[in-house]
Amino acid sequence: MSPVIFPVLWNGETLHADLNEGYCIAIPLDHDRPQPNAYFAPPYDAIPHHEGEWIGDTRQGASVNFYDIRLNPHGNGTHTECVGHITKERHSVHRALGPGRWIAQLISVYPLLIENGDRIINEIDWDEGIEAIILRTLPNHADKKGRIYSNTNPPYLSSEIAKRMAEKNIEHLLLDLPSVDRENDEGALAAHKAFWRYPENKRLNATITEMIFVDNAVPDGLYLLEIQIPALELDASPSRPYIYPLR
Ligand SMILES: [Zn+2]
Repeated sequence: MSPVIFPVLWNGETLHADLNEGYCIAIPLDHDRPQPNAYFAPPYDAIPHHEGEWIGDTRQGASVNFYDIRLNPHGNGTHTECVGHITKERHSVHRALGPGRWIAQLISVYPLLIENGDRIINEIDWDEGIEAIILRTLPNHADKKGRIYSNTNPPYLSSEIAKRMAEKNIEHLLLDLPSVDRENDEGALAAHKAFWRYPENKRLNATITEMIFVDNAVPDGLYLLEIQIPALELDASPSRPYIYPLR
């Protein structure tokens, strides 16, 4: 493929991304392989549809594959969510995202161990003028692609850092953890609320993407971000974020 060069204005400087040279940072879901899971959600599954004698699978005699899928976006792999995750009113991530690409910074970070044994992300620095933050937590093992997080108290974000992101107009936050909040925080959802400025000043276009995986071969730095989702009118959707190096 020939390069498709896309210019981006950033702090008065013009950077360029090649839209044919990106990295997918989603974890593909495969019902036959280990898959990441959180909050005891039923695992993603895909089964051939049955209609009487007919089974929707070419290997079982049908002329087409015709599968039913079962999926819980928050519990099954890479997904993007909007403020509708925590509001009584319905907000859909399909509407929250709209069209667009954003200047993102990929940042690797070691969560900090605190006295109660929790590991938190409390301090990160980012460049001025970026619109999205992608957090790769360290150590970064490939087993994140199939990790079962339920009841493991994974690392999470402090509400202070989530608040700072909202103040600095970070529209999109992506991370390789199952939640920005503590697994069990008695429903406080402090980081979710701080990031979305809920309830006082809801950020309807801001999104959080959880359970991504960024390969170690992808260096920290600036990228153009694209978040692809199916058009579901739901608070969250499975997603396929792509990042394109900005030079
Ligand atoms: Zn979620």
